[in-house]
Amino acid sequence: MEIIHVSAECYPVAKAGGLGDVVGALPKYQAEMGHVVKVLMPMYRTKFLYQNDWELVHEGGQHLGDHAFNYAVIKEKTNKLGFDLYLVDINGLLDREKIYGYDDDTERFLAFQIAVCDWLAKWQHMPQIIHCHDHHTGLIPFMIKYCYAFNHLASIPTVFTIHNAQYQGWIGWDKAHLLPAYDSWKWGLIDWNHNINPLASAIKCAWRVTTVSPSYMEELKFAANGIENLLATEWKKSVGILNGIDGDVWNPQKDSLIIKNYDEHLVKEGKRRNKKEIASLFGFDEEKPLMVFIGRLVDEKAADVLPDAIRQSVYQHHGNVNFMVLGSGDAEVENRIDALSHQLKGYVNSYIGYNESLSHLLYAGADFLLMPSRVEPCGLNQMYALRYGTIPMVRSTGGLKDTVKDFGDWQGYGIRFNNADVNDITYSVGRAIDLYNNKRDLYNWMRSYMMGIDHSWDASATEYIKLYESLI
Ligand code: ADP
Repeated sequence: MEIIHVSAECYPVAKAGGLGDVVGALPKYQAEMGHVVKVLMPMYRTKFLYQNDWELVHEGGQHLGDHAFNYAVIKEKTNKLGFDLYLVDINGLLDREKIYGYDDDTERFLAFQIAVCDWLAKWQHMPQIIHCHDHHTGLIPFMIKYCYAFNHLASIPTVFTIHNAQYQGWIGWDKAHLLPAYDSWKWGLIDWNHNINPLASAIKCAWRVTTVSPSYMEELKFAANGIENLLATEWKKSVGILNGIDGDVWNPQKDSLIIKNYDEHLVKEGKRRNKKEIASLFGFDEEKPLMVFIGRLVDEKAADVLPDAIRQSVYQHHGNVNFMVLGSGDAEVENRIDALSHQLKGYVNSYIGYNESLSHLLYAGADFLLMPSRVEPCGLNQMYALRYGTIPMVRSTGGLKDTVKDFGDWQGYGIRFNNADVNDITYSVGRAIDLYNNKRDLYNWMRSYMMGIDHSWDASATEYIKLYESLI
């Protein structure tokens, strides 16, 4: 089968969160299954671009409203990622270091989608599936059906995956002229609540819609940032497929970013050595349980309750715990966490920013990973934690519910709580400390057991293939 993935992120080319991890892994697993898989993404000016060899495969021109632009498509020469990687360059729009966060993100991703459709429209040999990811690529299913320049692509089945429905890419109708000419009778297919809504449009126009976990699919019918009714009506073409983790990147036996490699038999020693490194870097006591938070410091992740929850946990549990926070996001939360690291030096520390290698060391050396998320479509962190023998402490929501079982339940191996608030987190920290200090046999069993759970992409990649097959 010939599949094209279109995405704003793909690890290790450019990653801001889970979307990057998924688009770096799923295509690779599909290619290993014998399919021809291509990934198309913008050509940001990242390290990966400068450190690899590329060939120019196409040059073209299109319009963004009145503005004519040229674009180029380059291909990575060696297939080192396990699939064909293509980057789309548009001078003045995509030639930036960061993925998101610019005032003209609307124009940037619109131009990217137009260039992708324009290039595909020139192919002699059509792909069998176009798989789009999140709102930055959400207008493609509409464009290939109803934009006159591209509608000979309309018979190619499209699949759209919602990695996060909080972000929908809203565009005011005053910018409708930026879209390529389309059948204006179909304007309702891009509209939601008086805005152009790329995420909603993809849900309406894609042949099938997936979310990154079954529980998230159900939750979206009741809480989806304004598009609940749409998801409730489109349920027949929607399905939740749990993400996997990339075993080549996230494997404590081979991970080159950690100090000591280990497997489930050597977990005790291995983790101790990695923890020692963290303790010396960040001033912790190696004997105390170490809890880490890794992620975007935003309300979705309940980062706003972290400072108070950490403070109360340290006080209430008499300083018998250490906390490390790795993340960036909301400036106010960043400042509060930074301040807390100074106030509770020796108990709390943080790294405000994005640091891929530190994240690996923390997954390997921490004893517990805290995820109080309010919304978690799938969540990869808890799966990485499981793989590295780090006990996940999670709020019962979305993909966290699908992947973590409380140790109070039969064969449970994690800690779950219901509310993203100070008291629930403090109470869970207490359970974790008790487990760490007083229930060593159970604690050791949990670590070895969770490391053996299979969260690889094999099963999920197969589910996607079955879904594609049902469309062609
Ligand atoms: P989301 O996509 O909502 O941010 P996920 O749990 O799906 O959350 O994926 C988060 C990914 O981003 C994980 O690979 C996690 O390790 C990584 N990550 C998040 N913040 C940071 C950071 N500050 N430094 C390094 N890695 C990070």
